Amino acid sequence: MLKVEHVSIQYHERKVVNDISFEVPKGEFFGIVGPNGSGKSTLMNAINGSLKLAQGSITLHGKNISSYPSKELAKRMAVLPQMSELSFHYDVREIVSLGRYPYQKGWLQQLTKKDEEVIEQALIDTNIQSFQHKLLHTLSGGERQRVLLARALAQQPEVLLLDEPTNHLDLSHQMSLLNALKNLTEETGLTVIAVLHDLNLASLYCDRLLLMDDGREVDLADTNLVMNEVQLKKVYNASIQRYEHPSIAKPLITLEPFEKEGGNKLINSLYISEKEGYFEIESEHMWKFYSNFSNSGWSQSFGLNEANAKGEQLGVFSIEGTIVKSIQLKASIGTTEILVVGSLEQSKQQNSKLHLFVFIEGVLSERAFSQALILVTEAKTSAFLSVGNQKSLVQGNPESLVIAASQTGETMNDFYQKKMVHLELAEAITQTMNSLFAKEEFLEC
Ligand code: ADP
Ligand code: MG
Repeated sequence: MLKVEHVSIQYHERKVVNDISFEVPKGEFFGIVGPNGSGKSTLMNAINGSLKLAQGSITLHGKNISSYPSKELAKRMAVLPQMSELSFHYDVREIVSLGRYPYQKGWLQQLTKKDEEVIEQALIDTNIQSFQHKLLHTLSGGERQRVLLARALAQQPEVLLLDEPTNHLDLSHQMSLLNALKNLTEETGLTVIAVLHDLNLASLYCDRLLLMDDGREVDLADTNLVMNEVQLKKVYNASIQRYEHPSIAKPLITLEPFEKEGGNKLINSLYISEKEGYFEIESEHMWKFYSNFSNSGWSQSFGLNEANAKGEQLGVFSIEGTIVKSIQLKASIGTTEILVVGSLEQSKQQNSKLHLFVFIEGVLSERAFSQALILVTEAKTSAFLSVGNQKSLVQGNPESLVIAASQTGETMNDFYQKKMVHLELAEAITQTMNSLFAKEEFLEC
């Protein structure tokens, strides 16, 4: 429907948009992202017909946008301005009715029944009926933005252009604006082309993305593909990580604001307190952890905790009549130092339980965390078999298994790619368990 072909735009001698091409079909939510100064606004201004192209063409339904009379173009394309240049003397309904100007023949023409219907619908779609008779300056920023959207919708455009529409809005208003637009694309087939500076909003709402840098296309594809960590790092020159959104199938982009200290220093900051019926590992630093009770997060303190089983924060274990013996073992996987803490817990009422904590001074991806949990579980099982002493140990009890990483130092994306890592981790677990079981007096009790 809207076709941008080999478009270049220059200010004086300088090309700020360089050979950009894409096509947006009806009903798509199309996003444009890129660092400041990459040419996004310039491109948007060219699409709405207010800038001359140096090269290429922009067509709507096969017809060059520059050949549409301005009222004809306004019936097909509307722009949501960033913030209003609007007069404060109008009330909300009057401002929305200004959107009908392309359909009016003369200046002083009355609104027709059809005009009134469209205005009403725009008020409903943007949920502003309740304050339609208020003056604009009495409204909040979020409400004003919705009024401007209603005015744009009253034009009944096929294409709506938005340049950083959520800039002045708080989180809830950003979401409600974008939700409203997303619904319109689905329900009425409205086509949206939006410049969004927030990569997470872009990934939540856009079907496809054009990623620009220095006037050029870096990528043009489904949002999921464009949100590629390596590519984003390079373009934004920032420490960006991609994760998967916890509740919907979309990427989640996170930023790391500052350099962290690391280099096997953090592993030395762990200390273990062990008294009768009490066991705790603490650190001055936060560790990102995953446990076999499917809880995860960041913590400075780890222990054998009843709360573990309930999925609450890891803390201190303390039950009367319980004996805890623990052992710690420093090892390494490749050049990365790890600390394995094994702890046996036995009370009169219950069978012994073996708890394992593996601290890794490295940056683990989500995948590496889940692999590590599996590797450690396997290593624990085979160590049981090789130790051959299971007399009072019953599997299936709520035993803790915690993988914690400092998220500093070497990056580990995939343990299975490195056979040695796998073996070294397994070896450390086996050794820890051997040493624990060597504490015979404990097992005799
Ligand atoms: P973005 O919206 O991606 O931040 P812009 O399209 O606003 O980028 O700007 C792209 C480049 O064009 C920038 O280097 C900017 O300084 C330059 N530029 C923008 N508008 C003008 C103008 N009116 N005259 C000269 N240079 C401009
Ligand atoms: Mg801009």
